[in-house]
Amino acid sequence: MYPASFEYHRVASVEEAVGLLTRYRDDAKLLAGGHSLVPMMKLRLAQPKHVIDIGRVPGLAGIREEGGQLVIGALTTHYAIESSALVRQRCPVLAEAAAMIGDPQVRNYGTMGGSLAHADPAADWPAVVLALGAELRATGPKGARTLKAKGFFRDLFTTALGPDEVLTEIRIPVPPARSGAAYVKHPHPASRFAVVGVAAAVTLDGAGNCREAHVGVTGVGSNAVRAKGVEAALAGKAADAAAIAAASQKAADGIAINADLQGSEEYKAHLTRVYTRRALERAVERAKGAR
Ligand SMILES: Cc1cc2nc3c(=O)[nH]c(=O)nc-3n(C[C@H](O)[C@H](O)[C@H](O)COP(=O)(O)OP(=O)(O)OC[C@H]3O[C@@H](n4cnc5c(N)ncnc54)[C@H](O)[C@@H]3O)c2cc1C
Repeated sequence: MYPASFEYHRVASVEEAVGLLTRYRDDAKLLAGGHSLVPMMKLRLAQPKHVIDIGRVPGLAGIREEGGQLVIGALTTHYAIESSALVRQRCPVLAEAAAMIGDPQVRNYGTMGGSLAHADPAADWPAVVLALGAELRATGPKGARTLKAKGFFRDLFTTALGPDEVLTEIRIPVPPARSGAAYVKHPHPASRFAVVGVAAAVTLDGAGNCREAHVGVTGVGSNAVRAKGVEAALAGKAADAAAIAAASQKAADGIAINADLQGSEEYKAHLTRVYTRRALERAVERAKGAR
């Protein structure tokens, strides 16, 4: 399959990309790793007249720690995150999730920013950034702004980014002491996309109770969401198997689950509850082992 013809622009800066987006608006698409956009263009599900390649813009890739946050450039590949010593030391769940994305080719080309901006309903990163309380930096014609992960994913392939904005950074708070996080998923057997994916981030208090729990769920609805019922049920409770099992029963509450070839609504709701329990158990175990 060949995509419809388009004009290719390779830009050298975010400002140049924003200028072209402002000029061509709905006729333009940014190109990062190309592992979602190019297949969509080949299937003619996307037919941009202008493709703006940001792949070589300096400063958009890389991982650093700054002001209590891990700052991940939008162009950082899944593999760079999976293999980063800094990530493994400061927020290992990011490496855990990255290693579960697609296959080595996808992980070597696909970028975290591309995945978040694309907002595929079965993508892994959305659940993880929701659970970790990430902030997303974007630059548009009016300058830079910061968006919270909570509220970023609006609908199927739809985010809070404007059509003329470039996502530049993902900022993840370095978890406090006595914290643990985990990402688990039921992968599609062919693509490895999440049929259901659950990220849990837990912080315990001095007595070993659950001070805070954040849970992000992907794969089941039109966009990734926080499992608010689970979070509320766990806050202040003993972080034990019974409390986790009871809270996990609320994991699918309020999610508009899409039945599809991968499963019925009931099956996906069941998977969501099971994977939430597993993610929480693992996160709590890690929090107990953390200083
Ligand atoms: C075979 C296969 C298996 C896969 N399996 C998985 C999986 O298991 N889990 C998973 O999560 N993903 C999976 N993916 C998707 C993969 O992770 C993609 O790489 C990712 O979703 C998109 O990143 P990209 O850099 O390739 O973006 P691109 O394809 O270049 O762009 C995707 C979209 O985002 C926009 N965009 C890109 N960068 C920016 C930016 N900085 N600011 C604003 N908009 C931007 C583009 O305009 C485009 O609309 C799979 C893909 C393939 C082909």
